[in-house]
Amino acid sequence: VADMSEGLDRFAMLIDGQLLPSVGAPLKVLNPATEEVIARVPDATDEQLDKAIDAAGRAFATWRTAPIAGRRRVVRGIGRSLREHAEELATLLTSEQGKPLRTARLEIESAAVWCDWFADCEFSEEEIRDDDTHRVRIRHVPLGTVAAIVPWNFPVSLAMWKIAPALVTGNTVVVKPSPFTPLTMLRLGEILKDIVPPGVLNVISGGDSLGPKLTSHPGVQKIAFTGSTQTGKKVMESASSRLTPVTLELGGNDGAIILPDADLDSIADAIFAACFRNSGQVCLATKRVYVHEDIYDEFAKRFVEVAANAKVGNGMDEDVTLGPIQNRAQYEKVVQLIEQCESAGLEFLLKGDVPQGPGYFVHPSILDNPPDDSAIVVDEPFGPIVPLLRFRDIDEVVARVNNSEYGLGGSVWGRDVDLAESVAERIDSGVVWVNEAQRVSPSFPLAGHKASGIGSENGMEGLSHYTHPQVVSVRKS
Ligand code: NAD
Repeated sequence: VADMSEGLDRFAMLIDGQLLPSVGAPLKVLNPATEEVIARVPDATDEQLDKAIDAAGRAFATWRTAPIAGRRRVVRGIGRSLREHAEELATLLTSEQGKPLRTARLEIESAAVWCDWFADCEFSEEEIRDDDTHRVRIRHVPLGTVAAIVPWNFPVSLAMWKIAPALVTGNTVVVKPSPFTPLTMLRLGEILKDIVPPGVLNVISGGDSLGPKLTSHPGVQKIAFTGSTQTGKKVMESASSRLTPVTLELGGNDGAIILPDADLDSIADAIFAACFRNSGQVCLATKRVYVHEDIYDEFAKRFVEVAANAKVGNGMDEDVTLGPIQNRAQYEKVVQLIEQCESAGLEFLLKGDVPQGPGYFVHPSILDNPPDDSAIVVDEPFGPIVPLLRFRDIDEVVARVNNSEYGLGGSVWGRDVDLAESVAERIDSGVVWVNEAQRVSPSFPLAGHKASGIGSENGMEGLSHYTHPQVVSVRKS
């Protein structure tokens, strides 16, 4: 029993280069596939939070002026550590998040790829004038301590989307994973203790009150947040008291438009993945599928076939396609949504089983042309349920796709790529794909339009949100 309990409490926070354990009652972390408690993690006290922010502030004084080559080396070192510990981290990620191990491995590798890209990124200063009287330069100076707040669907990669650009540009970071999925980030903090100088990266864990304390803390000079639109609004409100700059990556309700000439033989699998990958718990998941009436029935048949064959189960089983929903609240939300669709008399093309627990498992559901104003079309379900919607012409479908508070992503599918591309450009969102979906890259700025976000992450555009421009104008005579 003693060993077991020691194992459960093995996670500590990285603060100022030290590993700090719980001082109060710890928080339990469950495996969503079994509902077993797999660990207890520190619930950061106010003193520990202050200590982390103070450490980041002190470290900033030297890190900001450290030679860029050294900062690049550290960011590359984070990527290397992710790869060296990939199997351990991926296994931990599956055990706390639920996703299939194969995709957990991809998440760890993708986080490393982000480190590589940002480590190599050029953002040198620009000289815009040098003549007899003036020398004028534009520098890109770091902001200070960055509070990085991360959701539970991609706990490692979404943390690295913030940590890598923040560190390379000379900021320091306090990262807070979701209370549902803190383990992989805490373990990574432990691994990075000897790679990143003390205070430059701090990893803290805690319950619901820690996020608001972090965003309102006077020692924070930048907030990088990924999560729901509802929480994003609170973050912005809290940031407003000190005019702390924010980057918000929020919810989405991406539409896919399937044109009549789409290649039905190949797209069912691709659209299944776009809708159901990570059990639908993806900001950029396809959440509404608009299919031209000429091919609706044929596409529906193939799509249902693919979805019905998906293997739902514990992500540790290598042949599982879809793991559980990550946490009980989200599971209950999805189950309720299925019941709501039923009681509203909506037609299902496929009604997913919700097996008896343990484990928050929900099989894929597909709805048959529900009304545009039904909750399943308007809201972000964030689970394995998607509506198919019939359309007749392009103007009509573009208007319906754009009739959403969100504007994160979208896709268009058709053999005539030029036509599909012209339709894609009409979608009001930060990213649009043709004949694919969910492709992200460190070089693509992801900028949610409308209620999907403020600012952007990734790409040079995202990097610029971690620096202020500073003009140095020198009069020579
Ligand atoms: P959430 O908003 O509940 O939580 C996100 C993070 O914010 C967690 O770490 C949480 O502890 C913290 N938090 C909660 N309340 C806070 C507050 N008042 N102040 C500061 N921090 C607070 O989101 P979630 O349920 O973890 O994630 C799902 C949502 O995230 C979905 O809406 C999804 O679309 C969105 N998301 C967006 C992107 C993107 O890049 N746009 C990526 C992934 C997920």
